[in-house]
Amino acid sequence: MIPYGRQHIDDKDIEAVVETLQSDFLTQGPCVPAFEQAISDRVNSRHAIAVNSATSALHLACLALGVGSGDRVWTSPITFVASANCARMCGAEVDFVDIDLETGNMSVSELASRLESANARGELPKVIIPVHLCGQPCDMREIHELAQQYGVRLIEDAAHALGATYQGEPVGNGRYSDITVFSFHPVKMITTGEGGMACTNHSELAQRMAELRSHGIVREPERMAFQADGPWYYEQQALGFNYRMTDLQAALGLSQLKRLDDFVERRRELAENYRTALADLAIQPLVQRENRESSCHLYVIRLPWVASLEEKRRCVHLLHSEGVGVQVHYIPLYRQPYYRECESKMSLRWMGAEAYYREAISLPLYPWLNNTEQEHVVDVLHRLASHL
Ligand SMILES: *Cc1c(COP(=O)(O)O)cnc(C)c1O
Repeated sequence: MIPYGRQHIDDKDIEAVVETLQSDFLTQGPCVPAFEQAISDRVNSRHAIAVNSATSALHLACLALGVGSGDRVWTSPITFVASANCARMCGAEVDFVDIDLETGNMSVSELASRLESANARGELPKVIIPVHLCGQPCDMREIHELAQQYGVRLIEDAAHALGATYQGEPVGNGRYSDITVFSFHPVKMITTGEGGMACTNHSELAQRMAELRSHGIVREPERMAFQADGPWYYEQQALGFNYRMTDLQAALGLSQLKRLDDFVERRRELAENYRTALADLAIQPLVQRENRESSCHLYVIRLPWVASLEEKRRCVHLLHSEGVGVQVHYIPLYRQPYYRECESKMSLRWMGAEAYYREAISLPLYPWLNNTEQEHVVDVLHRLASHL
């Protein structure tokens, strides 16, 4: 089976990790700050805080922005569970803003009308978390304008979008948000095994996240609440976590980051192949909006003839039986048993997300997918579409 995505580890990656294994530090050594600096340079953010997953980064981002019980956080329903769970981990309520069916990203018009009515009820969210689905940046300028208007903070879930650009600038530069989060899980753009990064231009937010990733402990003398008892002294000033990235992970990340441009280039090439090879079929790729370049983390197509999940299941079975490992990104979060419990009325408020879930599948896409494999995927899709 050709998988929908997979990592690539080369000899240089292995050397980098082995070198760290033989060094003095397995964690909290020189590689973590070097990796943070490299990501900062790459995405043009003032600060980057490395952690053990994007889930941890999202949690720290919410905490740094002061999300707590009684607060509301909004995100997209078409995302991985972590985009919403981070708010629940802080005790906040979650709600979902419907997507634009053409791109799979949060709909700006839906967001505008939801904000207007929430404002009238006095129930504005504290934070909104737009998700750059498949690596295509959301309409951040418009979302930022709305956020400014209503006094809402923004976290970009850019787990898919390392290497993407918006208005000619790298996603992660913080022009339109407070914090941007990246993932280094093996299926994402580059990997550290597990890992994540929170990028921001605000030094207070960076400091708060750095503290909370390591138990809430402070070591700088000028920030101590009390006088130091001696050279061994440190202070725990808040309830934090152990969300640290290891030096082994950072060494791998540094090595992988050197190939990011190659990865993105090959992914874009493969995406373009799909687009042209499937153009004459009744298959709709997600629409790419102008003024931005996707990292092409996923290649999602919609099968508009699919009228039910039953029919979708048949299509997916058929593709799997032909060795094409398609996946679905994602099951709408409000359908998850956990979120059904939080959500009292399952209405038609998310019609875009419902249609997307029925129609969308992710095709195999990763830099090492070869042309023969891709042609096989295209061939199977041609047969599938011609049996309509
Ligand atoms: C993968 C992913 C995450 C979580 O990343 P981890 O590093 O696995 O914690 C969050 N949001 C989105 C959209 C993702 O795809």
